[in-house]
Amino acid sequence: MRLWPSTKLSPQNRYQNMSSFEPEFWKKKPLRDLSSAEWELLCDGCGKCCLNKLECRGQIRFTSARCRFLDPETCLCRIYEHRFEKVSDCRNIDLKTVLNEPEILPKTCAYRLLCEGKELPRWHPLITGNPNSVHLAGQSLKGHKLISETEVKNYEDYIIDWPDL
Ligand code: SF4
Ligand code: SF4
Repeated sequence: MRLWPSTKLSPQNRYQNMSSFEPEFWKKKPLRDLSSAEWELLCDGCGKCCLNKLECRGQIRFTSARCRFLDPETCLCRIYEHRFEKVSDCRNIDLKTVLNEPEILPKTCAYRLLCEGKELPRWHPLITGNPNSVHLAGQSLKGHKLISETEVKNYEDYIIDWPDL
């Protein structure tokens, strides 16, 4: 997950100062040329990349088991600043990951969509200006039946086939 590493950028305020960004910057430059602030803004906050995955016969399958540090209400990481120290397999969603392993991201992930030459969906907070629009559109983990990874005995029992994954 790629969310708000700076305390200055909270989920609720990060779209408020868009005047300092070029309008529709994501349409004008390739991902590799984005500033780190622009890169951060692209994350819609869905939380879906924080679901545990299994590799089955060479295919990545998502499960409904969430990382223990993902808040299922806000879909945000509770330990963002320290995530790599505390979770050995927490993945940094950078350009290399998006290019080389797009299958670990949901089909709705903005990084994946732009890499595939697609447009941001109309519910994306960069389009709506509302950080909650991802939840209101039903595109985040909010409202889904999830289980914490700490309660899982067998991940295969929790494989999911949501169309957006
Ligand atoms: S899947 Fe993509 S858009 Fe959603 S939280 Fe993860 S990095 Fe952000
Ligand atoms: S520590 Fe867990 S909740 Fe936080 S970003 Fe990593 S996978 Fe997501």
